[in-house]
Amino acid sequence: MSSPDYTPIAYGDDSDSHRVAVHFGFVNTYARLPEHFYSRLVPIPVAAPRLIKVNVELARNLHLNADALASAEGVEVLAGNRVAAGSEPIALAYAGHQFGYFVPQLGDGRAILLGEVLGSDGVRYDIQLKGSGPTAFSRRGDGRAALGPVLREYIVSEAMAALGVPTTRALAAVTTGERVMRETILPGAVLARVAASHLRVGTFQYFAAKGDIEGLRTLANYAIARHYPEAAQAKQPIRSLLDGVVTRQAHLVAQWMLLGFVHGVMNTDNTSISGETIDYGPCAFIEAYDPGTVFSSIDANGRYGYSNQPAAAHWNLARLAEALLPIMVQEAGSEEAALDSATQALTAFEPLFKVARMAGLRKKLGLFSEREEDVALAENLLQCMAANRADFTLTFRRLCDAASGTEGDASVRALFAHPEAYDAWAAAWRLRLEGEMILTEVRVESMRRSNPKFIPRNHLVQAVIDAAVMRQDFLPFEELLDVVTHPFEDRPEKDRYATPASPEECVTQTFCGT
Ligand code: AMP
Ligand code: MG
Repeated sequence: MSSPDYTPIAYGDDSDSHRVAVHFGFVNTYARLPEHFYSRLVPIPVAAPRLIKVNVELARNLHLNADALASAEGVEVLAGNRVAAGSEPIALAYAGHQFGYFVPQLGDGRAILLGEVLGSDGVRYDIQLKGSGPTAFSRRGDGRAALGPVLREYIVSEAMAALGVPTTRALAAVTTGERVMRETILPGAVLARVAASHLRVGTFQYFAAKGDIEGLRTLANYAIARHYPEAAQAKQPIRSLLDGVVTRQAHLVAQWMLLGFVHGVMNTDNTSISGETIDYGPCAFIEAYDPGTVFSSIDANGRYGYSNQPAAAHWNLARLAEALLPIMVQEAGSEEAALDSATQALTAFEPLFKVARMAGLRKKLGLFSEREEDVALAENLLQCMAANRADFTLTFRRLCDAASGTEGDASVRALFAHPEAYDAWAAAWRLRLEGEMILTEVRVESMRRSNPKFIPRNHLVQAVIDAAVMRQDFLPFEELLDVVTHPFEDRPEKDRYATPASPEECVTQTFCGT
């Protein structure tokens, strides 16, 4: 294949013909915060940057010229070899609980915030380079990223966006022409990541742990202005901020659960204040449904396994509440009142999560009305799927056909080790559907928008990485990206991307992208 789309453009190639100056229109609101919130730096150039991909649609939504980003000058900016006009590069300071243990200083060890741009949706977005070299927070790390994890993050974050899940996005990826040392020697790459912000629970913990009350207050005001402006008008703005984060995290984790997504590293430094999915290190999607699924090789105790995710998010939110307590005291009137207020905010998590998850399950099952018995109906299906190792994504997708009539049952049954188990459940489901006056076409259409056909299955992502790393072949990357960014379309010609891994292909463990 010699399509220019698939051939990384060499930096220094004769690309003058389409050279367009990169104009970001950066503002740098975070760099206006006190100096101890970050460390200023200049990215360290890499040997030979080559473009892998620019996300043309995302660039357009950010008013960025995709051609300019793909030009030699743009690729230099994306690799950190050149600082764009208006950019004030900084590495952000933050702390975090990692697998339950507090680390008072983490920070952007291999990421650099270039600046912020205004999207066409009116939201201000961070543009960050990940893998762009050592920073003041690198500790013993090299500040670099390997090609595999960069491609994984590109694909999975873009898939999540297409699935309607709040997430950081991938604006572009480049290879560096340098090698990084991991368990083996691997090609290096840099991801240009877009996020509503990079504020984390761990950012608040950083200031709280230092007893820097002024810093906490400044950060809270910044978070409110940027993500929860309505909280500024509330009687208790900090409580309102906490309520906002609790609500968004409850909805976020509900969406993960509804897709069979396992984040894998839900540390507080990977818990975003904006409510976006962030950090795609060891993430993976469940195939044969098992609520106990743990993928990450470093998660020996299964702390961040699939079914533990709501509890993990709740725990992380409790750490946020703890960090906010010192500045809640003033608005609440006393320490006791602040503690009560924080506890109330946290108590809301579970019901919010349950309601969001149940609403999602109703949609997945094609139910338009709410009945108490729906909880049991949905749980029975999930139990049945688990007992029969049914593929999570395909079961729900094929239910869309079964919703049209019993002729759709055969393809669902085939996913169950004991197909009779499905029959009993389907009878109850049909009875429930018949109780609703909904046109079949309307129901099926709605189900098709809630139950994706294509998710970035682990073996497919792995095949993409292998082709890129071993053969410099980026065609599989382009193809998979195309499929998973149109997850609800039927596209029978792409059926092989909807198929679960064969036993030989099955990926049971994922590794952190460090
Ligand atoms: P993560 O596990 O990816 O969320 O990262 C946790 C911390 O380790 C963050 O502070 C990262 O910036 C830092 N880190 C991860 N990989 C590297 C690396 N290759 N070089 C420097 N710091 C790193
Ligand atoms: Mg992280």
